[in-house]
Amino acid sequence: MEFFPIFLNLKRKPVLVVGGGEVAYRKVTALKKAGAQLTVVSPSFHSLFGELSTNDSIRYIENEFHPYYLDHQYLVVSATDDPQVNTAVYQAATQRRIFVTTVDDLKRSSAIFPAVVDRSPIMIAISSAGKAPVLVRKIKQQLETWLPQSLGQLGTLAGEYRVKVKERLHHFSARRWFWEDFFQRFSPFQHHREADVRVYLESELQNPAPKKGHVALVGAGPGDPELLTLKALQVMQSADVIVHDRLVSDAVLAYARKDADYISVGKTAGHHCVPQKEINQILVDLAKEGKVVCRLKGGDPFIFGRGGEEAEILHQQGVAFSIVPGITAASGCSAYAGIPLTHRDHAQHVHIVTGHRKYDSEATDWQALAQSNQTLVIYMGLLHAEVIQQQLITHGRAKETPVAIVENGTRDNQRVISGTLNELSQLIQSNEVGSPGLIIVGEVVALQQSLQWFKQDQEEKQLETINVQGQVRAS
Ligand code: SAH
Repeated sequence: MEFFPIFLNLKRKPVLVVGGGEVAYRKVTALKKAGAQLTVVSPSFHSLFGELSTNDSIRYIENEFHPYYLDHQYLVVSATDDPQVNTAVYQAATQRRIFVTTVDDLKRSSAIFPAVVDRSPIMIAISSAGKAPVLVRKIKQQLETWLPQSLGQLGTLAGEYRVKVKERLHHFSARRWFWEDFFQRFSPFQHHREADVRVYLESELQNPAPKKGHVALVGAGPGDPELLTLKALQVMQSADVIVHDRLVSDAVLAYARKDADYISVGKTAGHHCVPQKEINQILVDLAKEGKVVCRLKGGDPFIFGRGGEEAEILHQQGVAFSIVPGITAASGCSAYAGIPLTHRDHAQHVHIVTGHRKYDSEATDWQALAQSNQTLVIYMGLLHAEVIQQQLITHGRAKETPVAIVENGTRDNQRVISGTLNELSQLIQSNEVGSPGLIIVGEVVALQQSLQWFKQDQEEKQLETINVQGQVRAS
């Protein structure tokens, strides 16, 4: 971290601005807004300064800079176009341990002005430590369009009612829930009429609704956190408790509320860390305590995620619940591997099945699974790959049908291993494929050769490095 972000209360605090040009004028107007007690020193002043109201009680010193002007100042802004003066200001201020910011001169600054999105009392300050001003401007532009002007008013109202809410609701968690609920209703990203907000706040204070528990079954997607839905993010950031599976990547968990309670109920095939019954009980108990629970599951909660079973229990127990769909492994892995699941020439339907079951059972309709012109996606199939491969071939799927195994799909360590159906289990063994891994069977897999895109840059770079090293070695 090159600069520590901090907001200063400059009300009635002496601040010195050195310079009398346009840049100095802009800094003076900005500092004036913050209520600083300003002294401006310069041998001459731009006519713009004449526009400042006399009520502003700015002290003007028509003179060259001298270190004694620094006496009693909290902060100094050097805004001259003379590097020598800027250097003198910087050195004298640093000696006196006063923070100094020199406009457009990082070397002579111990503090810098950030770009600001001002929705007072909400202030967003952006800085790249002088490295990428255009990037900072882009971010600022985006935030300016994203945040309505009325956001400031919402912040002011929240401030006004904060004490009243504190008097009415004694428990910290009840207050947090009150405000979570409030901002859910009055989103910071939308315009609201002040009168509506007041009516709501007044009626809620008269009659605060008791906090009700709720469980959201949330799909966290296959691993890349940018594949989270906005809704998933919202729930993850407002929940009291996050109950998560092993499949939920750390990168995704990093987006959840930091001060929530976390309960890991991770499962690996065959090793149920927390039995499903116990997970159900945890969810019911937490909700009955009035907690907002985010039950975070890999992929989509309703696709091999036991979301259905959990929702049934919640329903039986009278617990309020909601479902937030996620990108399932079939979608995520196929997209990031460059394998379209359907294609007009190769696959008219997709079969999504689990490989985690007893294959001697007669329940499996191998005939249907072995049909050509379709794509078969097998979840949890690594351990039974040999049976799957044999049965599909026995029931008519061509042994040279292309197959791919996607390990850690959509994550930084994604691997895609491809071959043909008769090599499936051997491919898994020889490449030591680990969990999570998804098997895709079908002609569409062949398209991966030309459609793979994810991590291509990195692979090309690695190849270049190998080539360069090879050339170096050869020469
Ligand atoms: N509800 C999840 C599936 C849970 S079952 C979903 O909709 O995706 C667990 C299986 O999903 C794993 O054994 C694996 O086959 C597959 N899977 C989940 N995430 C994966 C990933 N990132 N890469 C490869 N396979 C994945």
